[in-house]
Amino acid sequence: WHYAVDPLNIVAVECRTGPALPLVPGLPDDAYEHDGQLTKREVRAITLARLGPLPGELLWDVGGGAGSVAIEWMRTHPSCRAVAIERDPVRAERLAANARALGVPALRVVTGTAPAALRGLPAPDAVFVGGGVTAPGLIDTCRTALRPGGRLVVNAVTVESEAVLARARADHGGDLTRIDIARAAPVGAFTGWRPAMPVTQWTVTR
Ligand code: SAH
Repeated sequence: WHYAVDPLNIVAVECRTGPALPLVPGLPDDAYEHDGQLTKREVRAITLARLGPLPGELLWDVGGGAGSVAIEWMRTHPSCRAVAIERDPVRAERLAANARALGVPALRVVTGTAPAALRGLPAPDAVFVGGGVTAPGLIDTCRTALRPGGRLVVNAVTVESEAVLARARADHGGDLTRIDIARAAPVGAFTGWRPAMPVTQWTVTR
């Protein structure tokens, strides 16, 4: 595949506090305003690679939180579109502010609870589920909404949501991956590994 990118049509990238941020996923966590509910940068980069954005494609980011996945999807190409669905109105507001600050004000925010809030949205090329995994019918609604060739990526950190993913994989195939990240941090005068909660990721293509 070949496609040309008009050099004048690159997303405006500007950071409030420092140099311009790259268009490649895995931005620093502090590029976002958040309350702790944020997919951390290493996991985010892996997640975006699985979602596989192409020019013009549409993402649903279900349980949008601070919006990092939808925002980084849109930053990969100016023609990429995304809808973030977030049930918490404070987070939905913060998500929209993050999108403006990071150069993608066209990100659409739906404040509501999935799966009900997904009804009537245009069919996606990819869906990311970062919250609401155990909500009845949510995974199936997302999977069947995908256009042919579409990708579903679901991240889970609890035993209960992991059980949903094991079941989904038994029913529909796909890949189950566990992502264990640790960051070096001070331990007294020395340095030790501070592990993040392991993330279980299920991904399937329609
Ligand atoms: N990927 C996000 C973090 C997601 S945290 C980021 O990097 O910013 C999970 C979010 O899912 C929370 O904000 C929570 O409010 C939301 N959520 C949980 N269940 C939901 C549901 N059924 N519908 C919509 N949002 C939901």
